[in-house]
Amino acid sequence: MTDDFTTEIYYDADADESLLENATVAVLGYGSQGHAHAQNLADSGVDVVVGLREESSSRSAARQDGLDVATPAEAAARADVVSLLVPDTAQPAVYEEIEPHLEPGDTLQFAHGFNIHYNQIRPAADVDVTMIAPKSPGHLVRRNYENGEGTPGLLAVYRDATGEAKERALAYGKAIGCTRAGVVETTFREETETDLFGEQAVLCGGIAELIKAGYETLVDAGYSEEMAYFECLNEMKLIVDLMYEGGIGAMWDSVSDTAEYGGLTRGDRVVDDHARENMEAILEEVQNGDFAREWITENQANRPVYTQLKDAEESHEIEAVGDRLRALFAWADAEEAPEDESNENEDDRTHVRADD
Ligand code: NAD
Ligand code: MG
Repeated sequence: MTDDFTTEIYYDADADESLLENATVAVLGYGSQGHAHAQNLADSGVDVVVGLREESSSRSAARQDGLDVATPAEAAARADVVSLLVPDTAQPAVYEEIEPHLEPGDTLQFAHGFNIHYNQIRPAADVDVTMIAPKSPGHLVRRNYENGEGTPGLLAVYRDATGEAKERALAYGKAIGCTRAGVVETTFREETETDLFGEQAVLCGGIAELIKAGYETLVDAGYSEEMAYFECLNEMKLIVDLMYEGGIGAMWDSVSDTAEYGGLTRGDRVVDDHARENMEAILEEVQNGDFAREWITENQANRPVYTQLKDAEESHEIEAVGDRLRALFAWADAEEAPEDESNENEDDRTHVRADD
């Protein structure tokens, strides 16, 4: 723990893994997070059973990784801790299957707060409801663990029925390697709302629109597609890497004075008061549940809007230009490709989230 921050941060020394010594953990889902949690838990000496539907193509992958596989209901019946790591949109249906097998004192463990915060899952009052959310995709959660490193994560307790919910969640966080790097305490509400806002306004939605708008502005003015791609998309990574390593200041320090002056005087003309008002409206829709209702209805209707927008995005000219140019520079990203693709062989619906 540290008192330098406004929130608590927990490390290995704050977590007691013996709380999982006599416990069985059911990991439901074997995708990005599921495969990493299951393997890390097992390597930490925890008794793990992976819960997957009979027809799931992930079953063979989990077995090949040396794990015990059962149906979600069977796994939940055997477990003291049930980690719900199927896609967020599939969780309510999977929860219905396992609900009869949650006993008083069991733990329902999440990696994202959406379904609890927006009341899509309402667990019984005698079950602990906790979250350990690694701030990273699953393949890194696994790779870091194998390298003896950790992955930072979030901890939240929605319901403490046993009086030990937080300690048990920390033990889980330790077993998957998160307390090696640090686990930050938050709430289901804060994690859910900041996560949705971030991916909509800044990370996924915001950055994709910024890139496309810049690209289109240059191409419409007669500049070449290649130049527009390099300026507006390719260089984005170099700039973000500098910020990631040393803050926004490190970026300003390493660009030219001309770039710094131009950026400081023009940046807020792009992200102007109107853009900030739009951000506030987007946050409001997250907070008042409008976004959650919209997304749930969209799924019930088989995703008509999602499908249409996804198709339009894929057919944007910048994608074809990028494919062509990246093929010429294939050496550039060869070492960055994720080695684990176990989440792509499933007939599932795609991710609700993106970050992380
Ligand atoms: P995913 O899409 O990678 O994998 C989900 C797995 O669930 C599939 O591989 C399959 O085994 C199973 N599955 C799919 N559809 C199913 C269905 N209809 N019924 C039953 N099982 C089904 O999921 P993910 O990205 O690992 O997300 C799991 C949880 O982790 C979510 O709550 C997500 O928000 C959270 N999370 C994800 C990340 C990330 O980087 N992917 C990071 C932090 C938290
Ligand atoms: Mg996110």
